[in-house]
Amino acid sequence: MNEIYVTKTYLPEREKYDEILDKIWQTNYVTNHGPYGEKLESALSNYLDCPHVHWLSNGTVALQLAIHCLNLKGEILTTPFTYVATANSIMWEKCTPVFVDIDPHTFAIDHKELKKHITSRTSAILAVHIYGYPAPVKELQEFSDEHNLKLIYDGAHAFGSFYTGKSLANFGDITTLSFHATKVFHTIEGGAVVTNIEELSECLSLGATHGHRYEEYIQEGINAKNSELHAGIGLLNLKNFQHIVNGRKKVFEHYLSHLNATVLYILKPDYFEDFTYNYAYFPVVFPSEMILLQAEKSLNKENIFPRRYFYPALNTLPYLNTSSCPVAEDISKRILCLPLYHDLPLADVDRISIILKKNLP
Ligand SMILES: *Cc1c(COP(=O)(O)O)cnc(C)c1O
Repeated sequence: MNEIYVTKTYLPEREKYDEILDKIWQTNYVTNHGPYGEKLESALSNYLDCPHVHWLSNGTVALQLAIHCLNLKGEILTTPFTYVATANSIMWEKCTPVFVDIDPHTFAIDHKELKKHITSRTSAILAVHIYGYPAPVKELQEFSDEHNLKLIYDGAHAFGSFYTGKSLANFGDITTLSFHATKVFHTIEGGAVVTNIEELSECLSLGATHGHRYEEYIQEGINAKNSELHAGIGLLNLKNFQHIVNGRKKVFEHYLSHLNATVLYILKPDYFEDFTYNYAYFPVVFPSEMILLQAEKSLNKENIFPRRYFYPALNTLPYLNTSSCPVAEDISKRILCLPLYHDLPLADVDRISIILKKNLP
C-alpha cells in the first residue's frame, strides 16, 4: 500500500507549467516583480477583493513584516494553539508573546480571556484563523478599538474561506497568508500580506524589497520577494482552486458521514453563520490522549500518517516561560488532523474511518 500523508501537494498539469517555463526562458526575467509575479498579485487581489496584496517568499516573513510595519513593541496577545511560526515571528521581531487561552469549540483565541492579560505594554493582538475557521473577528475588533491595540490575523490556513460576505483576509489591520506547499492554495514556497490601509501597504511593499525603488532609498527593509517560477505555479493553482476545494469538500463530507456519530469532537463549517469554508483541514478531538496515540499507531501500521496539528501548545515550549492555558494544553494533546487532499480516494477515507472507529470506546 502507498503511504498516505496528512496532505498531498497539488501540482498543476506539467504541460501548462512547461509553457510558462518556456516564456521565462525566452524573456530571461526570473524574479523581482516580473510579469508572472505581477499577474499573480493582481489575481490574488481580485480573488480576495482587496486592493493591497503583496505576494512574498513565505508566510513567516509576512508576519515579520506585519509586526515591523505596525511598529509593534512590548507584548502581543496571541494564541498558543497554532503552528510555531506565529510565536516565532513575534519573538524574532523582539516582542513578547503573551498567550491567551482558546475556545474549546472553535480552537481560536478566546476573546473573553483577553482582558486578563492586558498590561500597559500590550501593543497588539495576533490572532489565527485556525484550520481556516474564523477567529472571533467582531469581538477582537471591538476589544482592539477599546484598548487602542493593533490587530493582525495570521491567515495561513484561511485562503479561500469567506465570512460575512468577505474573504477572511479582509479583517483587522493586516492579514498574513502562507502559500507553502502544504497549504490549501500554494506557490510551493510563498506567502502574502493583505491590508486595506494605504500607508501600511506602502511600508509592507517597500519593506519586502530592501526599502528602495530603483535609486530612491525610502526606508529600511529586507528581501521577501518571490520568483517568476513560483508565480507560474501560483497562477495555475489559482485557476484550479475551486476544483481543489470541491475535491476536499467531498473527502471532508465523507469523513463526516463515518465519524459524525462517534465520540470524536469535530468542528464543522455550519458552526459559523454566513461562512464558506476552504476545507483546509479535518481535525478530530479524541476523548483522551491515550486513545489518540493508540489510533495513530493503528493508522501508522497501515502506512497512514495523520499529524498532531497543533501539539504541543506553544505556551509550554521549553524556551518560553509563560502562564498556563489549560484549554489549549488539553485540546492540543487530544487533536489529530486526518489526511485530507483534493483527490484522496473515498475508499481510503473508508479505510481510515474504520481503523479509527475500532480504536474508539
Ligand atoms: C504555515 C504556517 C505559517 C508560516 O508559513 P510559511 O509559509 O511556512 O513560512 C504561519 N502560521 C501558521 C498558522 C501556519 O500554519
